[in-house]
Amino acid sequence: MKAAVLYGANQVEIREVSVPGNVQSGEVIADVEFVGVCKTDQQLTMAGLDEERILGHEVVCRLPQEKGYFALNNEISCGQCTYCREQLTSHCLNLQELGVNHDGGYAQKMRVPRKSLHPFELDNPALGALIEPMSCAVRGAGRILAATNLLSVSRPKTLIIGGGLSGVLISYLLNHSPNFDGEIYLYDITKAPLPWVDRLGIQRVEVPEPDQAHLIVECSGSPDGLATALRLVRKAGIVCIYGVPKQGISLPVSPHELFMREITVITSFAGATDETMGAAIAHIKRDEEFFEQLLGRMIPLEKLPTELTVWCPQPGTRTVVDMSA
Ligand SMILES: [Zn+2]
Ligand SMILES: [Zn+2]
Repeated sequence: MKAAVLYGANQVEIREVSVPGNVQSGEVIADVEFVGVCKTDQQLTMAGLDEERILGHEVVCRLPQEKGYFALNNEISCGQCTYCREQLTSHCLNLQELGVNHDGGYAQKMRVPRKSLHPFELDNPALGALIEPMSCAVRGAGRILAATNLLSVSRPKTLIIGGGLSGVLISYLLNHSPNFDGEIYLYDITKAPLPWVDRLGIQRVEVPEPDQAHLIVECSGSPDGLATALRLVRKAGIVCIYGVPKQGISLPVSPHELFMREITVITSFAGATDETMGAAIAHIKRDEEFFEQLLGRMIPLEKLPTELTVWCPQPGTRTVVDMSA
């Protein structure tokens, strides 16, 4: 079968490899249909891994004996460790992540546990590539909403930094949550148009001002974005690090200043569970037309090596590998 193999830092190539064997009980060989190209893939590609690996964790697949499409929860937790016992399965001490530390979906077929596959019905099955990132955003929005209890206002001015897919999904979930009544603003360094901003009735700011936002969600993953968030947030405000920060970057942060300004910093790391996958599917199904505009370029697998090494997604959209293209 055809697969995109990462074999070194910034080294990806399309190869003919054997179909995964050694199928254990509870596992199936799925036919991959669509795979989202995520910034995590680009970061893993840039850094390289110790072993050769097939990346791809935002997977839509089909099964030979069953009807319909399935979205993959790529996190496989052990169910036994102290974190699993606290339902923190993303922090499982024995976590296996398909497409990260095990082979993933940038291949014609992949080996997956049957119970990691979530059936969905959407008019456009390619939208299924948004289910995994949406699932992570469901967890993120949940953590943000829980933290807003610390704020002294019920309608927090909220600044989203970064208009990429993470920024959209978090904005969407806050905007549609019955438990959130804040005003949302978006700041993105690009001047590119972001149609979803208007569709959600969100105001875009050219230059965000200090001391305005009670809540800032950093969705760009850039050190500048985080520095900006910490600088701008109001006293007694909240900064959520949602965009995955690059490895190996540190920031000069003054603990004294954080203390004096009483800043709360929260984060949200991954978090695909059966529950969040189900919620993600429900959100996308309810509003397919909105999510349709977040699908970016559809590319064949052959174009993936370039896509990963020359990272330039259309702003606010997800590029998707179409295995049948
Ligand atoms: Zn991802
Ligand atoms: Zn565990």
